[in-house]
Amino acid sequence: LEGYRTEGSLTLGDIFIAVKTTKRFHQSRMELLLDTWISQAREQTYVFTDEEDDALKRRMGDHAIFTNCSAEHSHLALSCKMAAEFDAFLSSGRSWFCHLDDDNYLNPRALLKLLSSYSATWDVYLGKPSLNRPIRASEMLPNNQTKSVHFWFATGGAGFCISRKLASKMVPWASGRKFLSTSELIRLPDDCTVGYIIECKVGGQLLPNTLFHSHLENLQLIPPSRLMQQVTLSYGVFENKLNVIELSGPFSPQEDPSRYRTFRSLHCHLYPDTSWCLQAVGW
Ligand code: UDP
Ligand code: MN
Repeated sequence: LEGYRTEGSLTLGDIFIAVKTTKRFHQSRMELLLDTWISQAREQTYVFTDEEDDALKRRMGDHAIFTNCSAEHSHLALSCKMAAEFDAFLSSGRSWFCHLDDDNYLNPRALLKLLSSYSATWDVYLGKPSLNRPIRASEMLPNNQTKSVHFWFATGGAGFCISRKLASKMVPWASGRKFLSTSELIRLPDDCTVGYIIECKVGGQLLPNTLFHSHLENLQLIPPSRLMQQVTLSYGVFENKLNVIELSGPFSPQEDPSRYRTFRSLHCHLYPDTSWCLQAVGW
């Protein structure tokens, strides 16, 4: 496979990065992302949310997309946002679609390196499998009967990427209102619906990749020396405990008592020239 590598020819401009958020996280989550990794991938990052917000608009301009999706954690509300992301990608003309949640840190350099080993003219679906086996679902058939289906899907909370070639094959089930109706067919969330379309309708398959991480795994298990190579990271609560990456400094808990300090510290390790990193004590 080495011989097919196209490393070097892909640029960040070839990637469409969609971040899903909701009004109540604009301040608590989006500000952190804008201060950190989005500052390194401004031109290709778009945020999909559910309510107008002048502060967000001021920071992102027309890269803040206010969908008409409802601000609920329901399957349909979330699928509505995924549909908006997918359609915006299709009309962007870019080669790769990558989806992220607003509690993900994306390392643009690691992403570029990863996607450079594939071609957007192949069917590629990359991410972290959410389960260690295919999910089983019942597909509703028109005659009120159901069909049992099983497929792998990449957990949305770890981020995933799809090549343009594969995305264009998904159009009959994923573009416009189709995504919502497909998601209703299996009554599962947006990320499952993506896996279902790719594996059950298009005939593609998920390529599991260990560089994508959600807070549903123990993030402390990633060796600190390997953090810089990861494509995505996250934070959150897992088994009733705060789940964050293991990284000491430059921000101490005193300087930034929020749990988000791991993203700020990580960002300073990756981009030490950042102005607020230079001011961090001890650096
Ligand atoms: N989210 C959303 N609408 C909601 C709740 C959450 O769009 O009503 C988004 C949120 O911004 C995040 C993703 O869905 O990008 C996952 O939400 P969260 O991390 O709160 O929950 P998890 O599923 O990871 O426990
Ligand atoms: Mn989350």
